[in-house]
Amino acid sequence: MKVNIAEFIISAVGPDQYPDDALPEVALAGRSNVGKSSLINRMINRKNLARTSSTPGKTQHMNYYRINEDSMYFVDFPGYGYAKVSKTQRATWGKMVEKYLSERDTLKLVLLIVDLRHPPTSNDKMMFDWLKHYDLPMCVVATKADKIPKTRWQKHIKIMKQELGVLSGDNFIPFSSEIGLGKEELWGLIDGYVLS
Ligand code: GDP
Repeated sequence: MKVNIAEFIISAVGPDQYPDDALPEVALAGRSNVGKSSLINRMINRKNLARTSSTPGKTQHMNYYRINEDSMYFVDFPGYGYAKVSKTQRATWGKMVEKYLSERDTLKLVLLIVDLRHPPTSNDKMMFDWLKHYDLPMCVVATKADKIPKTRWQKHIKIMKQELGVLSGDNFIPFSSEIGLGKEELWGLIDGYVLS
């Protein structure tokens, strides 16, 4: 996809605020600080459209970024696994995300963003299982690859796949927002889901 314009549209706190123009949506899920905003910025060639290191624990906001006037949205889910979040906030997060995943007709693909340096967290595993349960098209994107030597990528990829339960037909892309690794492959995948 050729990105001509990318715009922040809304930080939505509920379905009433989601756009109603029926453009395809690609959602990003991942723990706080995993690198979701950086990934969006890299995909759209902008330094700072998606806010990096935004206040963690803002559990209720789904950030919508529109690509071109009429191509698609990136929907950045609130990050999970932030320790200082109360039980009530966590429950609100769960309800909001579950409702979105189960009811949003325009959702075409979910990107589960994980950190290639470390084995998946229990929350990453839960999210992966959840997406499988809903039978949603998804891709695991293992970011921050630049932070480990290239010689160790394969080992980390293997552990990540094994521990999450990624099967041979599942989408999995090693990524780095820092050096641009995986960008073209990810756009190719997104195009396949969004333009079909
Ligand atoms: P978010 O909370 O998931 O949106 O995470 P951010 O995008 O704000 O990233 C958290 C921190 O990790 C920031 O300091 C980023 O600069 C850094 N970061 C994110 N992705 C990468 C990456 O691919 N490589 C490196 N080296 N740092 C990254």
